[in-house]
Amino acid sequence: MLFTLPEEQRQVQDAIRRVAVEKVAPRAAAIDADAAYPQDMFDLLQELGLFTLPFPTEYGGSGSMLSACVAVEELCRVCYNTAYLLIVQWTPFSAILAGGDAAQKNRLLPGLANGKLRAAFSTTEAQSGSDIAGIRTRAQRVAGGYQLNGAKIWCTNSSVSDFVLVAAKIVDEGQAVGDVRRGAINLFIVDRDTPGFTIGPPENKMGARGVPSCPLFLDDVFISEDNRLGPEGLGFKVVMEAFNRTRPIIGARAVGLAQGAMELAIDFVRERTAFGQKIVDFQGVRWMLADMAIQIEAARNLVYRAAAMVDAGIGGAELSQASAIAKAQATDMAMAVATNAVQLFGAAGISNDYPINRYFRDAKVLQIVEGTNQIQRNIIANNLLGRS
Ligand SMILES: Cc1cc2nc3c(=O)[nH]c(=O)nc-3n(C[C@H](O)[C@H](O)[C@H](O)COP(=O)(O)OP(=O)(O)OC[C@H]3O[C@@H](n4cnc5c(N)ncnc54)[C@H](O)[C@@H]3O)c2cc1C
Repeated sequence: MLFTLPEEQRQVQDAIRRVAVEKVAPRAAAIDADAAYPQDMFDLLQELGLFTLPFPTEYGGSGSMLSACVAVEELCRVCYNTAYLLIVQWTPFSAILAGGDAAQKNRLLPGLANGKLRAAFSTTEAQSGSDIAGIRTRAQRVAGGYQLNGAKIWCTNSSVSDFVLVAAKIVDEGQAVGDVRRGAINLFIVDRDTPGFTIGPPENKMGARGVPSCPLFLDDVFISEDNRLGPEGLGFKVVMEAFNRTRPIIGARAVGLAQGAMELAIDFVRERTAFGQKIVDFQGVRWMLADMAIQIEAARNLVYRAAAMVDAGIGGAELSQASAIAKAQATDMAMAVATNAVQLFGAAGISNDYPINRYFRDAKVLQIVEGTNQIQRNIIANNLLGRS
């Protein structure tokens, strides 16, 4: 058992780190300040061919979750939003790869792989975020397909997407949504110009500001049967299980963010003077830096371990446990490190003239998205107790 990155991932790390420092870092503050979609960063990721990194080689990927984690870590170290551009593309890609039929894969995956298509993924509704079974968007069976009605919120990337994977409960005519059993949710491929489908204005967000999150409105939207992902009532479950395999990426985002925040704090305390000495020479300050390094390294190992398990073909409860532990620990760690990094900047940490408060705001998002950290703890406890 060797705890170092293999050569393949070291090469990914070197290459992405160079691009991150040279081309991504100089754009990070403006992307956050303007909250404008960074098309130039999307073009850069497309040029580098990164949209397929975690996926099988037949789609142009490396087939390595560890490589994907390393890439996200390096980008997030300098710019959360640019790393996010990869993840919002990877989510629908994973869903279609796991739950789509051959025709859907042939139609959509090549475009997502080369960046000619963009997509988004939507489950969350006003009354149900964590409790996905509580969604009210319904897909009523009609001749040749389904009629979708409902509303979604927080659908990230939707306003720039060609299509959205929308979760809805399948119902028969006259059946109330509340009657539907918990498992009867499916994802539907909804093209952005489908009649009755509208995308609302973006949220004004505290963090993750570069990639827009919007409400969706579905008003008698007809979706043909061949745009349902997976068999009725089963498609959603398959996709959710696939997300256990991609969850380490969220942990990698947190590790990169924390690493970047710590590095900024180190640069600052080396220069700042108080009581006639550099503040880096106060033992209390040095111990704060040391604690950051300890926490980051622990989280990095959990994230790499979960990713390596994916690459080794491990699944089921063992992976769901490792992925949930890595996500919860790494994102809680990122929040703690970013908070202490702001602390070390003093008042400058509150000023928008310094980059550190961006890390703090983005870190908070990570504890909430992709299953809140309370939900991760529910998964962990259920696994411990042998409950499904
Ligand atoms: C920047 C951003 C981007 C997003 N992008 C998307 C997207 O692209 N697509 C999409 O569908 N959604 C997206 N979301 C929504 C996100 O998935 C939800 O916010 C998240 O699942 C939590 O749901 P909620 O906000 O409704 O909180 P709730 O589920 O209402 O939870 C509120 C609080 O209660 C806690 N809680 C809830 N249930 C339990 C429980 N059983 N045990 C213990 N604690 C519990 C939660 O942990 C949380 O602290 C995004 C959110 C953000 C902030």
